[in-house]
Amino acid sequence: MPALARPEHFRRITLPPREAIVAADCDVLVVGGGPAGFGAALGAARGGARVILAERYGFLGGNATAALVVAFMSYYTEHHTEEHSDISLLPTDHGRGRPVIRGVLAELVRKLVKAGGAVAPSLATGFTVPFDAEIFKLVCEDMLHEAGVEILFHVFASGVLENKKHVDGVIFESKSGPLVVRAKIVIDCTGDGDVAAAAGSVCETGREEDGLVQPMSLLFRLGEYEKAAFAEYVKQHPDQWQGVHGLWAMIDRAEAAGELDLQREDILMFRTPRDREIYVNSIRVCRVLGTDVWDLTLAEVEGRRQMRRLVSFFKRYVPGFNQTYVLQSGPSVGVRESRRIIGGYKLTAEDILHAREFKDVIARSTYPLDIHNPKGKGTLMKRLPAGKAYDIPLRCLLPQGMKNLLVAGRCISGSADALASFRVMPVCIATGQAAGVCAAVSRSLKLLPKQVPVEKVQKALLAQDADLGSQG
Ligand SMILES: Cc1cc2nc3c(=O)[nH]c(=O)nc-3n(C[C@H](O)[C@H](O)[C@H](O)COP(=O)(O)OP(=O)(O)OC[C@H]3O[C@@H](n4cnc5c(N)ncnc54)[C@H](O)[C@@H]3O)c2cc1C
Repeated sequence: MPALARPEHFRRITLPPREAIVAADCDVLVVGGGPAGFGAALGAARGGARVILAERYGFLGGNATAALVVAFMSYYTEHHTEEHSDISLLPTDHGRGRPVIRGVLAELVRKLVKAGGAVAPSLATGFTVPFDAEIFKLVCEDMLHEAGVEILFHVFASGVLENKKHVDGVIFESKSGPLVVRAKIVIDCTGDGDVAAAAGSVCETGREEDGLVQPMSLLFRLGEYEKAAFAEYVKQHPDQWQGVHGLWAMIDRAEAAGELDLQREDILMFRTPRDREIYVNSIRVCRVLGTDVWDLTLAEVEGRRQMRRLVSFFKRYVPGFNQTYVLQSGPSVGVRESRRIIGGYKLTAEDILHAREFKDVIARSTYPLDIHNPKGKGTLMKRLPAGKAYDIPLRCLLPQGMKNLLVAGRCISGSADALASFRVMPVCIATGQAAGVCAAVSRSLKLLPKQVPVEKVQKALLAQDADLGSQG
């Protein structure tokens, strides 16, 4: 194993004091350029704030581009039948699904489709939106540019300048040495709550019973895929493929022959806007944390080991795949779950499954609890009642005790089960937009985010075409 072992005992040393370059002063600093950061930066800039977005990689998208998670999960209401409620991702009422997220997400989808970079949501796609990661990077950057957002790439947030629960600035490591960006309001969109944790916010990680998180996955993209040959196999074996996943009999045969050691129960694959490519999401690395560098290293190495075996399996067993080759694996392993902040409200699985409404709603979702077993095979899907959506309250974006910090994306305040729903990208974009709008309203009223009357945030969100359900 080429991975450096974790030291048995951590020896610590004190670092010399150092200076940093003050890179900028701004109204709103968004840390992280993934789905949440994209929504936050746009929401704040369109609300009239001077916005800087700082990102550790050299491109936008977060998991969408860095981990090749190239499909928005559905944000449409579902009309599933009981009989398929545990396995099917597809609404089954012949197209009567209704979107519950609009705003910048809808705009992004329209622009991606227009650029030939996405397949529009429909019953045929199960209301998911498969997209091209490279066009995604370009369209996101264009949209931020048009809104006047200033981007700083290749900066890793490593600490904060904090004064009595007020984050005066964020410290970044960079090739130019340490930098500080000072801001009136900071929005943590790192997915891992890095800024919130550095500022001393109380965070939780993992399930209540054992602290375990959902597995990480390395995604990869195969070229020279023969769509027609695979479609013919599915036609002949309808019991072996369910929308985006299946191949159970082949897995059994390959595992019995010692040719595969799949960590999940099925093969999961997503189409792309291009017919000869397919994305494979069938790797699982369990019992690893996205905030632990040794675990991340192990996950990358183990992910590539599993990818090698899967590629041989595809070529040998699966019709339509014998000419395929790996076009690309994710530049980074994908992290499903890490820190969650403790906010003014903790969203629960029950809230979601009962499609609960909140007076301070700032975003909505229909996506089920989609829990990948932290210990290995098995995926639990728990769905909302047909046609229903749940609300996400503004309080979930406000870390307890912090004055000028907002959080958006998968690390907002909720239980581990609830995260299994709100972690998907359309919802992260929506909570991002809401955090950005809240920050802009706070700036214009010269109030802290917590002091802003929620109606003002909702009004500004509605003006940006957000869907707030019964509060709309
Ligand atoms: C394997 C896998 C499959 C998934 N499948 C789907 C799917 O099919 N559809 C779907 O909709 N969702 C899916 N998801 C969920 C979804 O991708 C994530 O939950 C979502 O991307 C979270 O968005 P985010 O903006 O909160 O965080 P991220 O996407 O993780 O973005 C965080 C951004 O912050 C940056 N960052 C992190 N730390 C720092 C730091 N300290 N300093 C500076 N920058 C930093 C990162 O580089 C990144 O750009 C999947 C997730 C995984 C891992």
